[in-house]
Amino acid sequence: HAKQNGRRCAALFETSMHEAVQERRNIEVDLRAALKRNELELFYQPLVSIETSEIIGYEALLRWNHSEKGMIMPDVFIPVAEDTGLIVQLGEWVVRSALHEVANWPEHLTVAVNLSPAQMRSPNLMPTIINALAATGIAPQRLELEITESVLMNDNQSNVELLHKIRSLGVRIALDDFGTGYSSLNYLRSFPFDKIKIDRCFVDGVDSREDCRAIIRAVTGLATSLGMVTTAEGVERSDQLSQLKLEGCIQVQGYLFSKAMPAASVVGRIAPTVERPVQLREIGE
Ligand code: C2E
Ligand code: MG
Ligand code: MG
Ligand code: MG
Repeated sequence: HAKQNGRRCAALFETSMHEAVQERRNIEVDLRAALKRNELELFYQPLVSIETSEIIGYEALLRWNHSEKGMIMPDVFIPVAEDTGLIVQLGEWVVRSALHEVANWPEHLTVAVNLSPAQMRSPNLMPTIINALAATGIAPQRLELEITESVLMNDNQSNVELLHKIRSLGVRIALDDFGTGYSSLNYLRSFPFDKIKIDRCFVDGVDSREDCRAIIRAVTGLATSLGMVTTAEGVERSDQLSQLKLEGCIQVQGYLFSKAMPAASVVGRIAPTVERPVQLREIGE
């Protein structure tokens, strides 16, 4: 009996494995077409200064408006794009689009763009950044690139050199999702990041758990000593915000202020505020 059950399970497992493989293949085929059909869109989520409550800039987050499946989130298609190498083309599109969008914003607003490790291996990355900055006339200081520590794994010297080259343009570099993965303090020594983004998993418990609070306190202290700014990701409650302020965190980002929104909504929000900066309380949901 047990043996029969085992066989049944194995068959079910094979079926679902097969389906998963098939689904990935579908995504791959569709994603190639998506670039040509203009189905990709950047949404923007505000980054807010804890001290002044003002919006400092926005993080560009990729969305895919699939013709049949509707909106697909990056966690579904970015891994496929990375595996297939499509991420290079896709990432170039993201850099160009984000910089063209910033051209519509007041000059004090910055934009953050996520970079995949695979993009760091492409010889096109540097020229794409330089050309997009030149084409839009955007000050390099308004562009921030978010990388994860995997880029620095195994003491990857060519990536460290590339990051230095990018930074010498004036572009800022942030370390994203800090505290997840294989976080090693050594990564903070291998490159002088402008910013550390503390992962949502620590921010989540900052108002209820002493361990999360202790970690946030340690990371903000460390970042400040190293001359780096800290951003807390995934802030959803005002209790988290007040605690993060106490711990000396500099910036916050999360649903408490706003979800990521289409570019048109960003412009709609900043347009009437030329004389008056956007205040945090105006953007709560
Ligand atoms: P990330 O760079 O860490 O971006 C933050 C993610 O957290 C976003 O998810 C954002 O919508 C979500 N988030 C923000 N505030 C909150 C909150 O208060 N609560 C919760 N539960 N979530 C919050 P999203 O847009 O689904 O993106 C997921 C990941 O996909 C990003 O994580 C990033 O790693 C990747 N990604 C997005 N766009 C791009 C891109 O253009 N290029 C690359 N290479 N990766 C991208
Ligand atoms: Mg990010
Ligand atoms: Mg993150
Ligand atoms: Mg992430």
